[in-house]
Amino acid sequence: MKEEIKLSLNEKTILEVFMKETDTWGEVCLNVKNLLNNTQLEEKEIRECCRKLTQLKLIEYMRGLMDDDGKVAGAGYCITRDGKKYIFPCQKCGEEAHYSWHENKKGEWVSGVFPEEIDKYFQLCEEHYQENKNK
Ligand SMILES: [Zn+2]
Repeated sequence: MKEEIKLSLNEKTILEVFMKETDTWGEVCLNVKNLLNNTQLEEKEIRECCRKLTQLKLIEYMRGLMDDDGKVAGAGYCITRDGKKYIFPCQKCGEEAHYSWHENKKGEWVSGVFPEEIDKYFQLCEEHYQENKNK
């Protein structure tokens, strides 16, 4: 049994920002300034969170990042595979999930516009998504 990582609310908030940004833009690195713009936290708190999350290997610090033109764009933190697994795990195996959706009682996908219709929530990795689809 893997030891469970306990994060503070601030640390979780930061990790969620990484996940959201990565979802939107693909693999992204964020620096402290980016995180300041994306949270209500103080710079000092952000630095402490980043240090802790780096120690836990949920994010990693990258130097000499290149932009699309091949110019050095600076340094920042990126979410790791473990970080993604922590925030968005597959319900069956705990690996990083790739799909999430809601179903109503008839087993139809619902978009969340009518919350009262929602019966189940799924969050699955590629493998278990395929398995579920072929059932
Ligand atoms: Zn899985």
